[in-house]
Amino acid sequence: MSKFHSTVSRRDFMKGLGLAGAGLGAAAATAPVFHDLDELASSKTTHPLPWWVKEVDEPTVPIDWSILDYTQSADRYRNSSERGDQLLAARIQRRESNAIQGTPNSTQRDIALSDSIRVAQRSIDIADPDFEEVWLGYGKHHTAIYKGLISPYDAGPEQNLRTLQAAGHFFGTPQVGVIAIDDHFRKLSSREVPDDGLRYVVVCMVVQNHVVDKWGAETYKDGPGKGYPPDAHHIGGFKGYFNGPILSIQMNSFIKALGWRAEGRGSAYNVADGVMAGNTELTRTGMAGCPEHGISLRYMRCMKTDMPLAPTKPIDAGIFEFCKSCKTCALNCPPGSLSMETEPTWEGNVWEGKTINRPGVCKWPNDWSKCSGYGSPRDCGVCHASCPLNSTGSHYASIHKMVAATIATTPIFNGFLASMDRTFGYGKMLDGEEWWDRDLRTWPYDNIYGVGCGH
Ligand code: SF4
Ligand code: SF4
Repeated sequence: MSKFHSTVSRRDFMKGLGLAGAGLGAAAATAPVFHDLDELASSKTTHPLPWWVKEVDEPTVPIDWSILDYTQSADRYRNSSERGDQLLAARIQRRESNAIQGTPNSTQRDIALSDSIRVAQRSIDIADPDFEEVWLGYGKHHTAIYKGLISPYDAGPEQNLRTLQAAGHFFGTPQVGVIAIDDHFRKLSSREVPDDGLRYVVVCMVVQNHVVDKWGAETYKDGPGKGYPPDAHHIGGFKGYFNGPILSIQMNSFIKALGWRAEGRGSAYNVADGVMAGNTELTRTGMAGCPEHGISLRYMRCMKTDMPLAPTKPIDAGIFEFCKSCKTCALNCPPGSLSMETEPTWEGNVWEGKTINRPGVCKWPNDWSKCSGYGSPRDCGVCHASCPLNSTGSHYASIHKMVAATIATTPIFNGFLASMDRTFGYGKMLDGEEWWDRDLRTWPYDNIYGVGCGH
């Protein structure tokens, strides 16, 4: 038995908290009653609650169940439609004046941020697939910008970019980049890019939960799934696909609420867009890798706009160089479709031994006949889960922030760092059972909007 069991009384414990005398009496009367620390430590609740919160049989608000009757309509608390119209008109008037005058915390962009969230929520809540309609319906009635009372928000390309980055972070993306639509961009698209005045592409990175990814970092050795990774690892990707449209719809609405056009929600060439916008570098897998999240990304959500924006530059975090000596993804690839060559090549991707597409980029080709023939992407993703750069600096990564800085500065340790990751097994598969019982109050790795992405 723990020695704490018999030596710490409730009174001593309260004293330890700095509660004495009358305070002690009052606190002791209301605080959860634990007879010793063992009882405290082992106290169980049905919710994931802090230890000082106790569960009770009835809510703390007194209720007389013999009187309470919710069938007594709540309508009596609603304004008459006449009063409701008055309040709405006054609210619109107030918002318009604030937008025109630039009232602190109610400036044009503050209001745009609020409107964009509102429109996105309504679009999703009423399951209206045509959010343009929702936006127009809302915007025409509620915003000064649609009534022509103010000009589109324009604080110059750099500040406009900063505004989108700050809003995007709030919407759920850690990184917003911008590409100018020029001849180079047009070459990245298989479809003609119309000359319609939309001069920039806003590129928003959608992060994928790297912990659940690791449920699929290896293939089963035996059993019915032999040779394949577990099904559960798909949840990280699916959650990323779920988050992406919600992110887009908010960003799209925000740009419109600022008075500019915004079109598009996704991009077929999101890897190239991420690289060109400087959100990411290309990796051996053909997927995009970023300094903080490695390849634990789902995709880039992209939209075109006429808002004047400063294009962001490509980055060098040493990722492309690191891939030369790492090869972990290729070593783990079940059908061996990823290149094991150290140096990238100007040859394009391959299908049954023949180059199939996109010459002009010096990279590591993937033999898609092997990858797709194996059943990917639906049936695999081992490469995605086993990259040592995933979520740099997190508890589950071998590459800590200091090491990431080393990779970015010099390649001489790259081979050692990659083999260290494999030796210590950071890329190994995690046991999903532990995840189901995780401490929800302290677990930092879920993609909870408004909270973060596990950093
Ligand atoms: S997804 Fe394709 S490239 Fe990646 S490990 Fe699986 S088969 Fe290999
Ligand atoms: S596993 Fe290694 S080689 Fe593959 S993408 Fe990640 S860093 Fe590059």
